[in-house]
Amino acid sequence: MPLYEYACPDCRERFEILQRMGEGAEGVRCPACGGDRAERQLSTFAAAVAGGSSGFADSGGCGRPACGTGFT
Ligand SMILES: [Zn+2]
Repeated sequence: MPLYEYACPDCRERFEILQRMGEGAEGVRCPACGGDRAERQLSTFAAAVAGGSSGFADSGGCGRPACGTGFT
């Protein structure tokens, strides 16, 4: 399961949770204030799997985070 980063607009807490692919923000609660308005951040997916099997993060690429991230 991928790890998603969320940010809470109420207290600005940032946290990461594991979710199934395609799952939305519904039901996601901020661990700091309990708010349910957390928004998914554009992904730190590559960082989350650092050391894993994905090779694009350290392959050089174009230097931009969006480059080479073909997953949807
Ligand atoms: Zn919060």
